Amino acid sequence: MTTEPVAPDGPACTLCGAPAVVHWQRRLTPTEVGAAQAIEQDRRDQADLLADPQKPPALWPPLPDCADWTRIVHGCMVHAISRDAAALVHQATCTAPGVGLPGCDCEPEAAPADEPEPVAAELPAGW
Ligand SMILES: [Zn+2]
Ligand SMILES: [Zn+2]
Repeated sequence: MTTEPVAPDGPACTLCGAPAVVHWQRRLTPTEVGAAQAIEQDRRDQADLLADPQKPPALWPPLPDCADWTRIVHGCMVHAISRDAAALVHQATCTAPGVGLPGCDCEPEAAPADEPEPVAAELPAGW
């Protein structure tokens, strides 16, 4: 969570293009999943084309279902959502709220359970 002032050339509001003051994550729409899978399929096709024909063809795993992928949504002062809401992962259909609307138009996923604190790696003496 950043509290830095937004630079003029920083991210723009997804809805209106004004300088963004907050961003959050949402799931991919089916169209975006299809596009991501098409890119991956294309990459594999290219790799197959360039592969050594003397070798057995590559066995590709299933294409990614993108179920845990997210996209960033930016909101300006007008289209911002609350800090609490911005901490959640929103539905694929989530857009920045309309003018005057509180919050967004979807049911965000529940916040993930608190992860245990990562164990700090021991630094060698001298650090
Ligand atoms: Zn906006
Ligand atoms: Zn939402």
